[in-house]
Amino acid sequence: MRTPCVAGNWKMHNSVVDSIKLVKELLPGLDKVQSVDSIICPPFTALASVADVIKGSSIHLGAQNLYWVDQGAYTGEISPGMVAEIAEYVILGHSERRAYFYDSDEFVNKKILAALAVGLKPILCVGETLEENETGRTGEVVKRQLTAGLHDVTNQQLEKVIVAYEPVWAIGTGKAATPEGANQVIKEFIRDELVLIGSEELADSISILYGGSVKPDNAMEFFDQPDIDGALVGGASLKADAFIQITEAAG
Ligand code: PEP
Repeated sequence: MRTPCVAGNWKMHNSVVDSIKLVKELLPGLDKVQSVDSIICPPFTALASVADVIKGSSIHLGAQNLYWVDQGAYTGEISPGMVAEIAEYVILGHSERRAYFYDSDEFVNKKILAALAVGLKPILCVGETLEENETGRTGEVVKRQLTAGLHDVTNQQLEKVIVAYEPVWAIGTGKAATPEGANQVIKEFIRDELVLIGSEELADSISILYGGSVKPDNAMEFFDQPDIDGALVGGASLKADAFIQITEAAG
């Protein structure tokens, strides 16, 4: 049995003050849904303050990125160890990082390995662009991102990985994938590929989330699908009521 999971990616939103306000609004509602792993991923600047507020609750904390080197002259970067001091999860391979910050499959893999080495649990994002979708390349792209991202990851480490299928054309557009379509990609191109990367047992136990315009009014349809174990939520994670309702729908 896979535990349902709902992760909120706050992206580059919320000052420290706004983050504290939002997490205080989220806390009672999320803490009540004990059957779901809820993860919130604020910007780096707010991680410590949010960690203080959620201490002792069932809410988990995630970061949105890291650099793979331990330490050194890398101005502006944050090391895996620095993230692990404060957070439990880290989002890696998000399409915005792939598109705007040149995170190649190779970079994503280095980040995944570095995260796992310090005990962080990566949320590996994969997903095709609209053009790739329309030219029938979804399977090829998703399988490549998955295999490359998880290169050299041991089966023991794979147990710590969450995969998020996020079609790029559905992110922030209000045009979600169909639940059946997302489930099919997850089953055929992700879970089946995880059998080859790890084992049947592992592929069965790894949580795979859907991400892309998930809202309270469509969440349940995604969670009803057999291979969708939860959601990675962007826009709707910035509104306490909406994120709580999505989390409740996963429970
Ligand atoms: C995301 O950025 O991971 C995401 C899924 O965004 P949204 O929910 O806003 O589409």
